[in-house]
Amino acid sequence: MISVEEALSKILDFIKVLEKEEEPLLDCLGQVLAEDVYSPFDVPPQDNSAMDGYAVQAKSIAGASYEHPRILRVVGEVAAGCVSDLKVETGTAVRIMTGAFVPHGADVVVPFEDTDEVDRKQASTSSDEIGVRVDLPNGANIRRRGEDIAKGELVVKGGRLLCPAEIGVLASLGKSMVWVIRRPVVGILATGNEVAEIDQHLPPGKIYNSNSYSLAAQVISYGGIPKLLGIARDDVGQLTIAIRQGFDCDMLVTSGGVSLGDYDVVKQVLAAEGDISFWTVRMKPGKPLAFGMFKRSDGKKFPHLGLPGNPVSSMITFELFARPAIFKMMGRSSLAKHNIKAVMEDSIENRDGRRIFSRVAVKKRNGKYYASITGPQGSGVLTSMMKADGLAIVPETTKQIKPGTIVEVMMFDWDSAGICEKDK
Ligand code: AMP
Ligand code: MG
Repeated sequence: MISVEEALSKILDFIKVLEKEEEPLLDCLGQVLAEDVYSPFDVPPQDNSAMDGYAVQAKSIAGASYEHPRILRVVGEVAAGCVSDLKVETGTAVRIMTGAFVPHGADVVVPFEDTDEVDRKQASTSSDEIGVRVDLPNGANIRRRGEDIAKGELVVKGGRLLCPAEIGVLASLGKSMVWVIRRPVVGILATGNEVAEIDQHLPPGKIYNSNSYSLAAQVISYGGIPKLLGIARDDVGQLTIAIRQGFDCDMLVTSGGVSLGDYDVVKQVLAAEGDISFWTVRMKPGKPLAFGMFKRSDGKKFPHLGLPGNPVSSMITFELFARPAIFKMMGRSSLAKHNIKAVMEDSIENRDGRRIFSRVAVKKRNGKYYASITGPQGSGVLTSMMKADGLAIVPETTKQIKPGTIVEVMMFDWDSAGICEKDK
């Protein structure tokens, strides 16, 4: 048996970062930028108003107060999005809206509430003049040209994971198309004579194919593109044909057929068609795991991960081995999930020296995390995954975890969207 780390490092040794491609900006959420993006201009492009108010010169309102307002002549109005050739001189003001470019000559914006505009409107006094009731320093309420981004600045560096804020920043630079590392296409093939498709009436003796769906959903949530290849019977000929349908994928994931049963044919097909490693990994659930490389007709090799068939085992082995492989292909710099320390509220027995991954619900109380087991932990009990926030890790050498012991928990979703979990 090999350790989880050994298995992962053997897998990652074979995985390469994929090529870059140019994509529409919004499609790039959760992908890694493959170019350095410099700003072609200043953001904002001109000094503009941070408030609705009056653009004036600071010296026109020096010493102004509620009791002693400075009365200025209003020479016009600028709305956001308009280009105006209005000029502000000493003793004059231009009515201005938030986001509008500050007119030439003005160096301060006085918010409406610091003027007598409302009183004038109520008294129907002429709008040719405005009384300013505050003394503001030069630059007040003005967003300076280039204060966010200066022209020529390196704004988003290649290698960065594109999350919503990065997408917004790139949009603010007018980048509608972006070079990113492309998403891997992951073929997903279920195996087993007992497995039936979910849109069919369930025949006696059969179970529905949940694995293809949980695995495809995991692929999507980590940024890959699943290609569902259906269900292959436990027959070398059929399985070989089905596997060949996945030859255009960047990685193939199968479920089932890797344990020691008579019908576990995946490893036979792998051995015949590809370059195979078959391991038992010192972990529970998910002991049997196959890994290998298939050779396409063009001579290029692509990886295959043969996950166990039990629904919980297949999801957990996906988390531990397929997810980092997908992240590596996508060029992500951090492949690990976020681990926290939590106080275990139940006991866990470790009878055979494997690393146990127990499904736990995690709660925070008084600044500490607490983890409790999500009911029966059989590797077929898929609802135990649904109730879980993460996996409590019991080391190989620990025989028993007693309530109150601190354990490490690998969290499924540290933030709400796995694809944008920040690279650390
Ligand atoms: P295997 O690893 O092929 O021996 O499968 C172990 C068990 O996992 C089987 O007895 C099934 O109960 C279950 N199983 C296998 N494939 C699937 C699947 N695609 N969806 C749901 N359960 C499965
Ligand atoms: Mg099987």
